Amino acid sequence: MSESTVGRVIFVGAGPGPADLITLRGVRALAAADVVLHDALTDTALRAHAPRALWINVGKRGYRNSAVQTEINALMLRDAGQGATVVRLKGGDPSIFGRLEEELDALRAAGIAAEVVPGITAALAAAAGTLRPLTRRGTGRSVSLSTAVTREGELSAGRRADTEVYYMAGRKLAELSRRLVAAGWNGDTPVLVVSRALWPDQIASDHVVSGLAEAGVLHAGRPAVVTVGVGASPVGGKPLHVDRHHEARRSVGP
Ligand code: SAH
Repeated sequence: MSESTVGRVIFVGAGPGPADLITLRGVRALAAADVVLHDALTDTALRAHAPRALWINVGKRGYRNSAVQTEINALMLRDAGQGATVVRLKGGDPSIFGRLEEELDALRAAGIAAEVVPGITAALAAAAGTLRPLTRRGTGRSVSLSTAVTREGELSAGRRADTEVYYMAGRKLAELSRRLVAAGWNGDTPVLVVSRALWPDQIASDHVVSGLAEAGVLHAGRPAVVTVGVGASPVGGKPLHVDRHHEARRSVGP
């Protein structure tokens, strides 16, 4: 434990998975940690940076319920309240679909200091892992990051930007496809699905809005983002083929 009686909580973005995608500042925070509360998606190789800290897995894939959230808050408050430096390690970036506001709010209410170290969010990992920039000069001037699922578990989609990236859509691609069409996207708009972006087993596949359901089997059970619109296209506008899965896998592999 550190010497002060009141500890602090450092929220650290671990990036999309592979341990070397965390920032140096994040690594330094881990080195200073007494306790690490981590999500399920973070790479266990990160433990090397905090070998003496107590590591507690507080995440589970998919939807986390509010009972679990309350427990996470309680753990943070208990350990930081006893003077520990707590790292709350989150997948991707803590500020993107990381329920950061709830945890910050709990700390604020308890008067415990918080700090946030950003990380690489999944949308950026997917763009990097497929060599497909999210913005394109002249045609792709805006990007939106959306969760496909509402708090009530329903699916929502819109048309807010030239390039839209949907998180947490993996199990509902057919519905997402319908909602995108209803929101005004053309059925033949390019869509890119990338699962386990930047991991060695990343899979990327090309689709169009109306045919998005076909991606379900290929990416089943893997964290995936769905990029729609300008940023989904390969640079140079290589046409989409029927044999898209195979081709995408070969062309975007490491
Ligand atoms: N804070 C995280 C997002 C947490 S929500 C971030 O900034 O990335 C969890 C969702 O993130 C998953 O359902 C999936 O849509 C996406 N995701 C996380 N890691 C991913 C990866 N390596 N490849 C593709 N999508 C990923």
